[in-house]
Amino acid sequence: MGEFELIERFFLRPARRAALGGGDDCALLAVAPGMQLAISCDMLVEGRHFLSTVDPQWLGHKALAVNLSDLAACGAQPLAFSLALAMPRAEAAWLEPFARGLLALADAHDCELIGGDTTQGPLNICITVFGEVPAGGALLRSGARVGDDLYVSGTVGDARLALEVFRGGLSVPQEVFAQARARMEQPAPRVALGIALRGVASAAIDVSDGLLGDLRHILKQSGVGACIQTEVAVTLMATPLEVPGLELSTAQRLDYVLAGGDDYELLFTAPHEGRAAVQAAAAQSATAVTRIGSIESGSSVRLLDRQGQQMPNSYGSFDHFA
Ligand code: ADP
Ligand code: MG
Repeated sequence: MGEFELIERFFLRPARRAALGGGDDCALLAVAPGMQLAISCDMLVEGRHFLSTVDPQWLGHKALAVNLSDLAACGAQPLAFSLALAMPRAEAAWLEPFARGLLALADAHDCELIGGDTTQGPLNICITVFGEVPAGGALLRSGARVGDDLYVSGTVGDARLALEVFRGGLSVPQEVFAQARARMEQPAPRVALGIALRGVASAAIDVSDGLLGDLRHILKQSGVGACIQTEVAVTLMATPLEVPGLELSTAQRLDYVLAGGDDYELLFTAPHEGRAAVQAAAAQSATAVTRIGSIESGSSVRLLDRQGQQMPNSYGSFDHFA
């Protein structure tokens, strides 16, 4: 199978909303009046971002999911994406499930594939996603204010638990592993929540490198500090607190939740007066949100125990070059 045959067979589809899709030198995308384009790019490299054993269908899903998650964090509606793909061999047995997982998530979010580039090389998937957001209405990292509540969507920490099992550092009952593995391999970008939070959240980011590490980006860009209720944080994992055959200490749970990464949930702030609006956004998008702390003056993160006493905070987050 040659380069052009594989592009045509797996990745070229008739344009829907785009004025021109893949197949020419450029794709053409119209932007509605009063809207801005939100653009984000994420690369997935074998051995770095995924294990070589991952099912190609879920790799296709995740490659787009991590990009849609960035649009979600800005409150943008997905429009289209491009796909730059390097792979060692052109094999239908790999390409078919990869394209299936990728395009199923794309269709679920009405986000069309409008072009890309295909080359031979070590497996590497780079997607650029385009979304739209009302001009001036994007959720930014810089808008958190002292006194705001701090929230996170969905569940956090389970992808890290799955990674620990894959690494051989932890053994867990089969059902627990299956659920955690799905969180790691099939993250659900919180696009509907992000859109519902326009005008409600004061700042937002998606949790990819770890909750605390990503929170620090909001704090730095907003010039504020934060405190987190650890007794709430430990309840954020989907893995129940009590599972027969699973010994997970509170400290370990806290570590997975605060520094685990790969969760693709939204971490956001909203003014205290906006609590009802946050709940309405959660209901409208059918996405659970949990208030885990608040924004305060300063520049650091204080972890508080049940009694409100400050605990040591030595959590790091993932950094490719650290
Ligand atoms: P060019 O030589 O102009 O770079 P290519 O030969 O690389 O064009 O690609 C031909 C067409 O196929 C282009 O429209 C490009 O956007 C599209 N395309 C290439 N690779 C992919 C891919 N992986 N997914 C979707 N479209 C692709
Ligand atoms: Mg090209």
